[in-house]
Formats: sequence, structure tokens, C-alpha cells
Amino acid sequence: MTVYQQTFPLNRETAIPAVGFGTYLISQEDAKEAVRAAILNGYRHIDTAEVYENEESVGAGIRAGIAEAGLAREDIFVTTKLWQGHAAWGQKLKNEEETVAAFNGSLERLGVDYVDLYLIHAPHGGAERLNQWRGLLEIKRLGKARSIGVSNYSEKHLEEIKAAGLPLPDANQIELHPWSQKPELLAYMKENGIAPIAYSSLAPLSTWRAQPGQDSAKTEAMKISDGVLAAMAAKYGVTEAQLLLRWGVQNGYAVLPKSLNPERMRQNIDLGGFVIDAADLASLKAMDRGDGIAWSIGDPTHTD
Ligand code: NDP
Repeated sequence: MTVYQQTFPLNRETAIPAVGFGTYLISQEDAKEAVRAAILNGYRHIDTAEVYENEESVGAGIRAGIAEAGLAREDIFVTTKLWQGHAAWGQKLKNEEETVAAFNGSLERLGVDYVDLYLIHAPHGGAERLNQWRGLLEIKRLGKARSIGVSNYSEKHLEEIKAAGLPLPDANQIELHPWSQKPELLAYMKENGIAPIAYSSLAPLSTWRAQPGQDSAKTEAMKISDGVLAAMAAKYGVTEAQLLLRWGVQNGYAVLPKSLNPERMRQNIDLGGFVIDAADLASLKAMDRGDGIAWSIGDPTHTD
């Protein structure tokens, strides 16, 4: 097993581990053990969010993992996210003060005194969107978040920050995998020094959020494999999941695989033993289908 321990730069002071552990759809009941196991298996980045409703348990897992692995808090990169509110779901949009208060709530639930990265979960903030960003800038100024960013933001939302004369995010966490490659957004982000973080890297797999009610917009047709990924993975002697994750890190995207299965949790960070060759990278590039299939798709208010 070759645990992939590389990091990518986030801002002048901070680097982000290339492979992190995602915790969406991991319950409060399961998160402590899952996060503990992830740390013992070599994961050094844990990604959670206020809206995942598991921060207390994720925090307990971080403490347990750190203690058992003989690590320090500084060895683990912790990301959480502001739930900004969503008018289309009847929710109030958080203003700047409420953003800072929500952040402090996350810190308390996680049981940490700083996070490594704090993100605005989605650009649903409407008239408060810039004020929410001002809230994150204040949190960073206070040293409570070492880096700050956004998630699911399009170029339009990033331009809004720039037009207001505010510092740009360190990162934008977005759905990225061979079916959703977003080349224009990534080029814009590169030009502006905004690091990409990939979520739902495993979406092309038949096993991706396979249980009913796991709110993916994946159609039945998408669940039928054309065998291309399987053949390519076989060539390298790895699983399709490893191939998809290696594609991410080889492109310079930090990835966040989630698994509650111990064997899959281990294989998802075992990415150091092979390199995808240029011909296969070109075949994977041709698989782009545009928009993603995770939670944001089909929500007409998503890009408001
Ligand atoms: P992933 O791409 O991590 O896929 C997870 C799914 O794939 C689960 O069903 C899991 O099942 C299965 N799986 C995991 N490993 C393997 C493997 N090796 N072989 C086969 N199947 C596997 O999906 P997520 O959507 O959870 O994205 C990852 C993380 O990104 C999230 O957990 C979250 O932290 C973040 N995220 C952020 C979003 C945002 O809006 N900012 C949106 C979505 C995700 P099992 O557990 O049974 O192994």
C-alpha cells in the first residue's frame, strides 16, 4: 500500500493534503469511528459541514485519531462549511454577524479552536452573499480559520467578490470528475489563484451513493457502465475508484473520498503506486459531460 501523502498549496501559509476524508451522509452515530479509522489509515484532511449535522462526532473522531496515532492537532487539516441559508427552501440568508456566529458554533461542535479551511457551502446567499464573504474575511483576520474559501461558486460569483474589491477565496470546492471537468471555471480559478478541491470524485461508479434517498441526480442510464474505466483500472492493477481519485490528484485537485467500508477507505488513499499515462488522460478528458450530478444539479436557484 502506498499512502498518498502529497499536499497542494492553498495560500502563502497553508497547504492542503491531496487526499481528504469526506463525511457527507455519515451520521452523528458513525462519524466518530469513521474519522478515527480514517486518521489511523493515513488521512490528514477531514471535510465536514454544518449542514451534515455530524460536527460533534467528527470532532470526537479527530481527537480519538490524533491520540491513537500519536499526532498533534496541527497534523490534521480540518474543513467545515457555513450553511449560508437558502431562500428557495424557505430559509433566512445569514448576514455577516450570523456568519461569524455560525462559524463559532461549528468550532464549538468540533471542539477545536481553529479550522484549517472554512467555506461558504453554496452561492445561495443572494443579497447577503458578499456579507457572508466579509464574515469569512473577518474570521480569517482573527486567525480562527487558516484559510477561507467557497464551494459550488461559478465564475460569476467569484467575479462578484473581485468587483467588490475584496480578497478572493483561497479555494473553491466543486464537483469534479471525468464526467464533470469544468475546464473554463478551472482556468479562471487558476488565473486568479483559487485552488480547486474536488468533491464526488467517485460519481461515475455504480456504487456511488447507491442507497435510495441519497439525493443524487444520477439517472438509471448513468448507472450502466461502458467498461472504459474498468478496463483502464485493470491495466494499472487498481480499482476504478483509485483510477478516478488518481485522475483528481494528478490534475492537482485535492480529493475527498467518503467511505464507511474499511477496505474502500484504505484503497481510496492508496494512490501512490501508479501514474495515469498521457493516452489514458486524453481518453478521460473526452468523457466530460458538462454539469455534475451531485446535489446542485436540477436546482434552478443554484446559480442565482
Ligand atoms: P464520493 O465521491 O466520496 O463517493 C462516495 C460513495 O462511493 C459512497 O456511496 C461510498 O460507499 C462509495 N465508495 C467509496 N469508496 C469506494 C470504492 N473504493 N469503491 C466503490 N465505491 C466506493 O462522494 P461524496 O458525494 O460523498 O463526495 C465526497 C465528499 O465531498 C463528501 O463526503 C463531502 O465531504 C464533500 N462534498 C461536498 C459537497 C459540497 O457541496 N461542497 C457536495 C458533495 C460532497 P461506501 O461508504 O459504502 O464505501
